[in-house]
Amino acid sequence: MRIEEIIKAFKPYKVVEGNYKIWLDKNESPFDLPEEIKDEIFEEVKKIPLNRYPHITADPLRERIAEFLGFEKENIIVGNGSDELISYLLKLFEGEHIVISSPTFGMYNFYAKLEGIKLVDVPLDENFKLQNVEDYAEKAKAIFICSPNNPTGNTQEREKIISVLETGAPVILDEAYIEFAKGSNVDLVNEYENLVILRTFSKAFGLAGIRVGYAVASEEIIDYLLRIKSPFSLNALSMKIAELMLDHYDVIKQNINYIIKERDRIYKEFKDYVYPSEANFLLMKLNAYEFLLEKGIVVRNLSGRLSNHIRVTIGKREENNELIKALNEFLGVK
Ligand SMILES: *Cc1c(COP(=O)(O)O)cnc(C)c1O
Repeated sequence: MRIEEIIKAFKPYKVVEGNYKIWLDKNESPFDLPEEIKDEIFEEVKKIPLNRYPHITADPLRERIAEFLGFEKENIIVGNGSDELISYLLKLFEGEHIVISSPTFGMYNFYAKLEGIKLVDVPLDENFKLQNVEDYAEKAKAIFICSPNNPTGNTQEREKIISVLETGAPVILDEAYIEFAKGSNVDLVNEYENLVILRTFSKAFGLAGIRVGYAVASEEIIDYLLRIKSPFSLNALSMKIAELMLDHYDVIKQNINYIIKERDRIYKEFKDYVYPSEANFLLMKLNAYEFLLEKGIVVRNLSGRLSNHIRVTIGKREENNELIKALNEFLGVK
């Protein structure tokens, strides 16, 4: 790819900066780690010899994740965020195109463009359910399914996911928000060799700053991925922090329950304008981006089919109260 092509195809990252009070724009957890756990983690981190390279395939963390999920280490690969794993997955499989269902997470398109891979978009229907993606399975390098989907928040039916898997095409099921949903499909990895599940520590685990994501798949796929993975891409500090966080899942679970409660509270408040969500955010049919920004609340402004919509991350109770107040003002209810 030449410089002129890059300039045409990729815009510089847009960073929202400023003295805003409330940040509900990136689907982060509003909770940093409790002080005691941070202290414990830093004590452990202190013991890491920083002159040494980390484990080349991050085995200690792979083992810990495997134990957490009830899989074997051979079924797990860890990456520098799950974004890194998306880029490897696109290099792995043969085929002429990838299939996505918009509106969805932008990174599938980003990496496809970077690799010069054709993108086939089979848009979600009016209820944001998957349509006939099976029809494009032949010659597909991969079919991406995001469930719960970013930015719509809904999940896809298990039967539909199985129907896509039955085509035999590689299916990448992105479960970045699964901890906020009613159920996972990770068990299908035991049945389908063409399934890759993507997960992350960035959302429910509240560790967006350390960049750790992982994939669950058949031993075969993981073996191939490990061969093409950039060595040492996961640093020793992040690896250790993610490991220790799994030991404190009780704290994470509490935070998840809090977020779900708050999500449902905001949902009820704006029923006519909000779509049902099984994630840590809500899609709202409100053109309120600028209005909220003026109130010091940053949310995600959407475009295209979702222009006049915003995506709002669930925050702490006080933050959500301010959001509710501002939105009621926007609606002229007060
Ligand atoms: C946030 C998010 C990710 C996670 O990305 P990381 O690189 O692990 O931080 C993956 N998929 C979707 C749909 C997301 O919204």
